[in-house]
Amino acid sequence: MRNVVPDAGSVEIPLLGYEDRGALNRLTAYGRAELQDDSRRCGCFRCGSTFLAGEIVDWMPEEDGEDTALCPYCGCDTVIYDTDRYPLSTALLAELYMDWFSSEFKERKKAATYAPSFSDYDDYLRRGVPFLMEHRATQEIVGEVDLFRIDAPGNATGFMHEDRDAWFAQELADGEPGGMADIVVHGFERAFVDGGEKIQVSCYFEFIDEHGRRLPYELWSPDQERRVCELSTRYGSRLKGLILGPDDRRMRLVVGCAPDRLSIQ
Ligand SMILES: [Zn+2]
Repeated sequence: MRNVVPDAGSVEIPLLGYEDRGALNRLTAYGRAELQDDSRRCGCFRCGSTFLAGEIVDWMPEEDGEDTALCPYCGCDTVIYDTDRYPLSTALLAELYMDWFSSEFKERKKAATYAPSFSDYDDYLRRGVPFLMEHRATQEIVGEVDLFRIDAPGNATGFMHEDRDAWFAQELADGEPGGMADIVVHGFERAFVDGGEKIQVSCYFEFIDEHGRRLPYELWSPDQERRVCELSTRYGSRLKGLILGPDDRRMRLVVGCAPDRLSIQ
């Protein structure tokens, strides 16, 4: 259980130096005297939850100082609290998590079959995506492909398609978006004539995130396009794309289990 609350878009992304990280880490220990005020805002950089000091029920006794707070959600001694110097935010917790729990973060990313959509690095931190990417038992990883960034629709394969008006009509999302996306495949293997020239296209893709935005990426190579086409034929709309970081340029291909398979588990 956890309580990851997205920050408002106006929350500043903290720029943490070495000393800040040390100072923040020191906040986690011996905090009981500071946390007497039940309404003080607290957060845990292991699970990303935010809560009030009054919600803390377990304390770790210390021999050489005040008790240390344990997170009411995950039980870890990784609780910090709001201070003038370090205003508490989910972005701050996410930065600390990626720093102090870097190997756990990497492992989590490696196994993930889900992450919420985000629009750029700041949004990724404010939403606490590092805490929210997860492995779901109902989803299976079936591959991974490379992406390249396009600045406008039609830079690559879409331009060659006969439905180019539709292709141009819909805007692309700004920033460095990612997270879970639907994969829409257009035009399976066909040829058409354009200005007297015969053009052969396999297919082209749109990646639509949870907010309905069209992501500004295309697949890296025709081989990978063919592979996604095949998987799409096989799995239909159960095939999803998952981009796990703002500058990853990789898309994990994930399939949700069919309902009949779910009932067996
Ligand atoms: Zn926690």
